Amino acid sequence: MAERSQTAPEAGNDMGNEDAIGGNVSKYTVLPSGYCGQPKKGHLIFDACFESGNLGRVDQVSEFEYDLFIRPDTCNPRFRVWFNFTVENVKESQRVIFNIVNFSKTKSLYRDGMAPMVKSTSRPKWQRLPPKNVYYYRCPDHRKNYVMSFAFCFDREEDIYQFAYCYPYTYTRFQHYLDSLQKRNMDYFFREQLGQSVQQRQLDLLTITSPDNLREGAEQKVVFITGRVHPGETPSSFVCQGIIDFLISQHPIARVLREHLVFKIAPMLNPDGVYLGNYRCSLMGFDLNRHWLDPSPWAHPTLHGVKQLIIQMYNDPKTSLEFYIDIHAHSTMMNGFMYGNIFEDEERFQRQAIFPKLLCQNAEDFSYSSTSFNRDAVKAGTGRRFLGGLLDHTSYCYTLEVSFYSYIIGGTTAAVPYTEEAYMKLGRNVARTFLDYYRLNPLVERVAIPMPRLRNEETEVERRKEKPPPYKYTLTRGPARNHPNGKGDKKSSVNHKDPSNSF
Ligand SMILES: [Zn+2]
Repeated sequence: MAERSQTAPEAGNDMGNEDAIGGNVSKYTVLPSGYCGQPKKGHLIFDACFESGNLGRVDQVSEFEYDLFIRPDTCNPRFRVWFNFTVENVKESQRVIFNIVNFSKTKSLYRDGMAPMVKSTSRPKWQRLPPKNVYYYRCPDHRKNYVMSFAFCFDREEDIYQFAYCYPYTYTRFQHYLDSLQKRNMDYFFREQLGQSVQQRQLDLLTITSPDNLREGAEQKVVFITGRVHPGETPSSFVCQGIIDFLISQHPIARVLREHLVFKIAPMLNPDGVYLGNYRCSLMGFDLNRHWLDPSPWAHPTLHGVKQLIIQMYNDPKTSLEFYIDIHAHSTMMNGFMYGNIFEDEERFQRQAIFPKLLCQNAEDFSYSSTSFNRDAVKAGTGRRFLGGLLDHTSYCYTLEVSFYSYIIGGTTAAVPYTEEAYMKLGRNVARTFLDYYRLNPLVERVAIPMPRLRNEETEVERRKEKPPPYKYTLTRGPARNHPNGKGDKKSSVNHKDPSNSF
């Protein structure tokens, strides 16, 4: 009989629930209280013992309702946001309400129409649940914690269903992606291991540039890009993959960019955290993006490796480190946007605004008005702040943020939910913006060979997109029992686009 795995003793009061949660549930069968026979169809089996999985505990509240607890980040109970688990042994037309009861954040895009992701064995493409089946409210039963409830109707008995906070992007997927690129033997793509994580996972470093730029003594203009320092911020990986895919393509813009620039990309700075299903921290519970000032080779080895490389490039007179961009995802804001630094030098400050302004022209989902510049003490250990202080006046350091949920196109109020493809498209637009920044546009015509323009390619991609088969979602009247009202806390009535809703 399966049971909850690795439940540890109480560790403190900061957990958001009564009992501490030590590990993920492992094929945990929920039986009605007092029931002692063999499990039957409809006795749900929950599991999160897989890569990037996260579910710490399941309490059955009633025949239809379950309280679900996020497993806190390893060695850091303060962070509880990412969830990713499977449910099986369902009955056809079985209706359930799942309450995620121990989020560590209060503000959430669930108020604005965000919904959890779902896929199942027979429908392997991730879809968002219809927002009308999702409730976010302050709950008196859970220490006034914010609770996200969603209603769901299982429709295929043989299917295993998987629910997640956002589109997962695992370490293994990333490794397979890089393996497939390596097999193509492109003479302008290089992969090396820059170091290892505490659990011996690879810290990959990619170099994308024309081989001419790597000749002995050649001067290099470097664009340095990092991602997934925060492991639960999966959109970071889709954006990063979009950048990489574009830069290695035969698109005329990509060819010009490779001739003029050296792209150094470390797409996954926290591979252990990604593997473990953490939201914010590394295996040892560190928020790596607060340790740039003094990373330790044993406690923060991946960060230490990247920082050493950047300092080495900084000290190399042949290398000009022009850009550093660290890619994150944001849990309360819409759109893509950037954070930059504040400088005393007004002219430097103005020059720093150029790249986000250009990106805004290229990407409909990128918002310049949400872009901001700061020097808060709380962000002193971030890559952007540390490198902004270290590098000279010709370098620009940004955090690129992208919403976990949606973007609003200028002139409208409709929130368009991000898809994996839309995140990758933002990445492609980041890459092509370097062409505008360096005013390399005239060169594109020189190398251009007859081929479809980028815009046409995208239309083609969209045309090919198939509408996934729908789920039979539960219609509900309101928040679940015990949660009588969400007074003012229910999600606002943003005009949702809801392509997956079958009703
Ligand atoms: Zn982040």
